[in-house]
Amino acid sequence: MSREDYEVIIGLEVHSELSTKTKIFCSCPTGFGAEPNTHVCPICTAMPGTLPVLNEKVVEYAVKAGLATNCEIARQSKNDRKNYFYPDLPKSYQISQYDKPLCEHGYVNIDVDGKEKKIGITRIHIEEDAGKLNHDDLQGGALVDLNRAGVPLIEIVSEPDIRSSKEAEEYLKKIKSILEYIEVSDCKMEEGSLRADVNVSVRKKGETKLGTRTETKNMNSFRSIVREIDYEVERQIEVLENGGTIEQETLRWDDVSGKTFPMRNKENADDYRYFPDPDLVAINLSEEYIENIKNNLPELPESRKKRYLEEYKLSRKRC
Ligand SMILES: [Zn+2]
Repeated sequence: MSREDYEVIIGLEVHSELSTKTKIFCSCPTGFGAEPNTHVCPICTAMPGTLPVLNEKVVEYAVKAGLATNCEIARQSKNDRKNYFYPDLPKSYQISQYDKPLCEHGYVNIDVDGKEKKIGITRIHIEEDAGKLNHDDLQGGALVDLNRAGVPLIEIVSEPDIRSSKEAEEYLKKIKSILEYIEVSDCKMEEGSLRADVNVSVRKKGETKLGTRTETKNMNSFRSIVREIDYEVERQIEVLENGGTIEQETLRWDDVSGKTFPMRNKENADDYRYFPDPDLVAINLSEEYIENIKNNLPELPESRKKRYLEEYKLSRKRC
């Protein structure tokens, strides 16, 4: 069989740092580039006895992002603990959202070779970022910087509707432009404000069951994402053509060699032992609150483009 006999299925999980002034559960500043461990307090360093308080702006920004991507906004939502151990996560759990995300069932339209294509958005949820490990090249080991711990994020999960690296790039550009336009994130990829986990699988054309997928974490440039997808698609097809099977695993992309490498077997949701965070109250949003945000959204680039096309009888090519 040849490359043309396979269909490529891509799903993206985009993490975007929200540009609130303060962190999601404490009043520490969120600014990038400060001296290590200067934007910290007992809450975001997980001192015993401290309690989180949800930053209202985070909910507002996430709802804005949901409305701008045609999502339904949940009237009732909550925060959950995602449990795992890593040195940059002082509480040993990340506060995220599990089964009741703030936004669900949305979509964005992308332009592919002059044609419009709808890409579904499964959900958008809010969560806190982890800290950062800085590897100490002089003395060895790693140093933990918790400035980023507790910086608010939204995670935008796409449906597996993307079929090529080109479509993935267009989708990411679209998400980035929307978030910038509604001013909820600065989307600076080089500062990690926008990064994506990329899920790739392939299947023979005509098959309805999804193939086993791999996930490459923390991709932070369009170019790397395109290269990674193209590489991973070729690799998976080659494995299958040689009679092998694809392992469900988490991969790391190496920009220098242009290859993916296995990091660990992919975890399932069960491994994280999610449960509702008992330190936080439920998030209940009124119709009025949602309406108010909706009414204050700026006109989005897509609808402005459509309006111009109609009002001024322009051709699609020129805009
Ligand atoms: Zn803090």
